[in-house]
Amino acid sequence: MYEDLNNKVAVITGGSKGIGTAISKRFGEEHMNVIVNYNSDVAGATAAVDEIKRAGGHGVAVQANVGTETGVQALIDAAVTNFGTLDVWVNNAGMENQHATHELMLADWEKVINVNLTGVFLGSKAALKYFVDHGKPGNIINMSSVHEQIPWPTFAHYAASKGGVKLFTETIAMEYAARNIRVNSIGPGAINTPINAQKFADPEQLANTTKMVPMQKIGEPSEVAAAAAWLASNQSSYVTGITLFVDGGMTLYPAFQGGQG
Ligand code: NAD
Repeated sequence: MYEDLNNKVAVITGGSKGIGTAISKRFGEEHMNVIVNYNSDVAGATAAVDEIKRAGGHGVAVQANVGTETGVQALIDAAVTNFGTLDVWVNNAGMENQHATHELMLADWEKVINVNLTGVFLGSKAALKYFVDHGKPGNIINMSSVHEQIPWPTFAHYAASKGGVKLFTETIAMEYAARNIRVNSIGPGAINTPINAQKFADPEQLANTTKMVPMQKIGEPSEVAAAAAWLASNQSSYVTGITLFVDGGMTLYPAFQGGQG
């Protein structure tokens, strides 16, 4: 537990399931005040708020589409109205779908870029503006992916969005460092969340994915949430502009594991 997080105010986008819910719960355990954003899954967001409260924090579920300026502003407003300020902003919302690139419809490209990249821009912009206007330090955490580094055929829009998040994170980390606003990314590998439910339900696909992880196992959302808590806390006070991979070694070129090559 990180004592400096006690009573801090956070917004977590896409908090109604998966990694977002795990971060909500972990922030609850840190006794933080959390705005849990959801787009359509009110039941999931309400359950996340219940978890926060059970863990000793405060939480409020707020509907907003992160791909819109009005949506992210509603989240800032909710943080200020309910908890008086904003300290930590987590751009977690994301989506993916699979298409061969020569068949990828513009609409599918735009949907993924809108949530995964434009949403990160809009959320970061709103949070930065709040921190700058109020002359206070701030902390932004962007949920990237191992696919900001590893190419992913048939997921070109997803990989492009996460590659964009990497350089966006590094750029604004540099731009706002002197104002004591830290910006970092987390790069999860294969994590056991609803986004992967169908894939991991198939034993063959599960085995194929596990083979790509040197630690030979799928990660849990709580392991990603632990990284978010550390980045949000003062324990990482001299860290900005990084991607913290939480991937069991997936980014370490596992094909070379046997010493071949
Ligand atoms: P998930 O599908 O379980 O959760 C994604 C969340 O984003 C959902 O709550 C969804 O409602 C929300 N969301 C989608 N569009 C939104 C919008 N327009 N406005 C607000 N919320 C919206 O997925 P997850 O696995 O928990 O993924 C969370 C993040 O982690 C994503 O950015 C994803 O790309 C990233 N990630 C996940 C994995 C993994 O293996 N699970 C790996 C790498 C990166």
